Amino acid sequence: MANHATGMVYLVGSGPGDPELLTVKAKRLLEQADVVLHDKLPGKEILGMIPDNRSEDVGKRPDGEWTPQEYTNRRLVELANEGKTVVRLKGGDPFVFGRGGEEMEHLAANDVPFEVVPGITSAIAAAGVAGIPVTHRDHVSSVSFVTGHEDPTKAESAVDWEALADTGGTLVVLMGVGKLPLYTQALREAGMDPETPVALVERATWPEMQTAVGTLASIVEIRDREEISPPAITVIGDVASTREAVVEFLDNRTGGYALEDS
Ligand code: SAH
Repeated sequence: MANHATGMVYLVGSGPGDPELLTVKAKRLLEQADVVLHDKLPGKEILGMIPDNRSEDVGKRPDGEWTPQEYTNRRLVELANEGKTVVRLKGGDPFVFGRGGEEMEHLAANDVPFEVVPGITSAIAAAGVAGIPVTHRDHVSSVSFVTGHEDPTKAESAVDWEALADTGGTLVVLMGVGKLPLYTQALREAGMDPETPVALVERATWPEMQTAVGTLASIVEIRDREEISPPAITVIGDVASTREAVVEFLDNRTGGYALEDS
């Protein structure tokens, strides 16, 4: 049997950004870890809880390039082999568009013991705190989580927007601010009603949270006018219209009415 590393890696989800939405376990591990490897997605408030001498940024580098995934993989194994307790902190849930799967496989292949600590994914929570339930008995009974990072006009695109339009369910697009014009058009071409409600929720639960609502036809213009920038989710479907009816009473820290007036 292979020699196991003496250290331990925790693949931890941070939730969408509000420190109170960390799991109890994530908070304990952040306090106990020898080293925390992270990018910027957990947000300033949570990253501010980690002392500088125990934190390593493996996100975007000062030159604008991303730290290569191979480096992060290697670093996790190296630290575990030094006997360290390592937290690999990821925004939201580690396995929702978070490369947690790749890292887990790399750890196992290198005999490093690890534990998965799920987090509250922004795919559900960012909508929720804006007053948008991703499912609703009156509207939909399915929801799809999609990456908006790919160019839908490319033949080799792994996302089948036509099939997604056909589900009739809610679509939640992550990493989809930049390519919003491309996939909203792809969905319309696939026959989706241009009046379908669409919401953009930026930096959900962060102090700078912003929400903008429109339709499949109008949302690109609204994105530009409201200056919505990443990280944000796009919610496409009838559920996006529920916000309007509840926002006056929605008392989430930054999701609700307080923001509407500013
Ligand atoms: N693992 C993460 C997703 C990583 S992909 C999760 O489960 O939430 C990065 C994308 O997540 C961003 O482009 C954005 O679409 C979304 N995202 C993460 N945090 C967010 C937040 N606080 N508000 C809105 N969108 C967020």
